[in-house]
Amino acid sequence: SGRFSRPSESGTRTTFADVAGQDQAKKEVAELVEFLREPERFQRVGAEVPHGVLLMGPPGTGKTLLAKALAGEADVPFFSTSGSEFIEVFVGVGAGRVRKMFEAARKAAPAVIFIDELDSIGRTRGTGLGGGHDEREQTLNQILAELDGFEGKEAVVVLAATNRPDVLDPALLRPGRFDRHVMLNLPDRRARRAILDIHAKALPLTDPSDLDAIAGGTPGFSGADLKNLLNEAAIQAARRSAGSITEADLQEARDKVMMGTVRTLAIQP
Ligand code: ATP
Repeated sequence: SGRFSRPSESGTRTTFADVAGQDQAKKEVAELVEFLREPERFQRVGAEVPHGVLLMGPPGTGKTLLAKALAGEADVPFFSTSGSEFIEVFVGVGAGRVRKMFEAARKAAPAVIFIDELDSIGRTRGTGLGGGHDEREQTLNQILAELDGFEGKEAVVVLAATNRPDVLDPALLRPGRFDRHVMLNLPDRRARRAILDIHAKALPLTDPSDLDAIAGGTPGFSGADLKNLLNEAAIQAARRSAGSITEADLQEARDKVMMGTVRTLAIQP
């Protein structure tokens, strides 16, 4: 039902340095940092900054991470919710939650709102598939109303994430709504190495250069998959009661995650 955090109080502030690769996406999102830090500068000269940003890309590519990093860089409160939390609620409940979250963010402005899995509420309305879904439509309508309700220059930025931009209701993408689109991609070899480096920082690897081979042998892996791989390797090492993570641990973990990945891909439509 929505979460709230204030970067400066949560101890570990997420920043762009925590997001490996995704240079273009980071650059586009970074443009909003200045606005959130000093909205008055923009308001003074009547500059309208986009409120709605749609983060698109495969699962686990860092969409949530990037949204958190924006709030962290600007040092503003972060409000988040997921579209999937609105699926089984009673009519009106979802819309009420959306209204409350936007109200709280406006009060705390400058602030960032993040809506994960936008497609689970934001699918094209009135297709009749699955029989009506009144509560979903009301929630979606409330999001649209909130986006339209921004009076020009309020310093609230709304980011939403989806891996199915193709099913989104076109109403969400109209000017003044989620009209900025930022694409996140699966990492290439270099980016995979950078992601592995970030998540291996706190891990005792026998030889950190083992990560080269792992980066080379994991095409198609997302950032989340790579993080998973490292954790799996650490579990392996612990099972052996070893003090460090060897190349064999990493390779075995890679194979495990890969089999998992194959399974996940197979059940996708
Ligand atoms: P989903 O669509 O499944 O919600 P997402 O795109 O929001 O996925 P995140 O939740 O941000 O992905 O990523 C999951 C985890 O994977 C992150 O917490 C982070 O630790 C790691 N990760 C993903 N991408 C990156 C990246 N580019 N750099 C560093 N870590 C990453």
